[in-house]
Amino acid sequence: MFKAILIEKDDAGYRAAMRYVDDAQLPAGDVTVRVSHSTLNYKDALAITGKGPVVRKFPMVPGIDLAGVVEHSAHPAYQPGDAVLLNGWGVGEVHWGGLAQKARLNGDWLIPLPGAFTPQQAMAIGTAGYTAMLCVLALEKQGVRPADGEILVTGAAGGVGSVAVALLARLGYTVVAVTGRPHDAEYLRRLGAAEVLDRAQFAAPGKPLGKERWAGAVDVVGSHVLANVCATTRYRGVVTACGLAAGMDLPATVAPFILRGVTLVGIDSVMCPRADRLQAWQRLATDLDLARLGDIGRTVGLAEALPLAQQLLDGQVRGRIVVDVNQ
Ligand code: NDP
Repeated sequence: MFKAILIEKDDAGYRAAMRYVDDAQLPAGDVTVRVSHSTLNYKDALAITGKGPVVRKFPMVPGIDLAGVVEHSAHPAYQPGDAVLLNGWGVGEVHWGGLAQKARLNGDWLIPLPGAFTPQQAMAIGTAGYTAMLCVLALEKQGVRPADGEILVTGAAGGVGSVAVALLARLGYTVVAVTGRPHDAEYLRRLGAAEVLDRAQFAAPGKPLGKERWAGAVDVVGSHVLANVCATTRYRGVVTACGLAAGMDLPATVAPFILRGVTLVGIDSVMCPRADRLQAWQRLATDLDLARLGDIGRTVGLAEALPLAQQLLDGQVRGRIVVDVNQ
């Protein structure tokens, strides 16, 4: 038996609770992992609360991230004792995920835990941090350099935003952070933000074009915020869009794209090809100041993840939540 958060949906309704689960109930897979740490991402919070259609099979163990040690393997790349890491691939949505002491998975989804990180540190980064790195890599690929000007990061006090601010600042970019939490301005400055702006400036419907300011942007918010970010991005600037914290809609015009040559780059971490994942994790190992992770992440026990899910959706959680599944 092992401990897990289990989401069930039946005539009695939608509910998530701590349960003891028999190993025999683990799904099919060629690698069994003894999980040490998982995380609480925005998507996990949607799954646990049922506020978004994340879970597509019931019962489900949520948790789109995990780090742990291989217990059994029929996969040629992994041996018992190997330290591994997993992000995405539908885990925690259609396949049992990381918010449990054990997981059985397709070995092709795993990557070796980078030597630079403990399992706890890898989960302080988690999908949110790896997605932030994918955004930074996309800005670089599109040719955005520190000398080009300011980079805007929205939802900056959240998971993706916090790691994006820390990464970009370490790489020499001038980072402007947007937050709805002015009391976290000092936190954002510690991570490397040169300036902190109030979210209210971006939240209302705006004009098709505004004063040009950003050489690049990392947006986790969507909706009017993303539309306003595009409208104020400089000629040939680059906006990476990875989130929907304010909504799925994009009430924008084509003006920034056809009059200023702005590029909007979509970022997906879930089905991201293995080579790009390995590159992102390798860059995290060299470009993220580990001292900053202590500020960004805090660790909780498995049961605490349940009430924290609603708080995260309410925008009350700063940075990242690491879940020690054995606590
Ligand atoms: P968090 O909840 O940690 O951070 C989201 C942040 O967005 C909040 O902290 C808050 O920042 C801001 N925010 C919340 N609600 C609103 C609102 N109504 N209007 C404007 N801003 C708001 O989540 P994550 O960082 O883990 O994820 C951020 C987004 O990115 C989510 O939508 C998530 O689903 C998505 N995502 C997508 C991935 C992909 O592969 N494309 C991978 C990972 C995440 P502040 O208080 O500073 O304003």
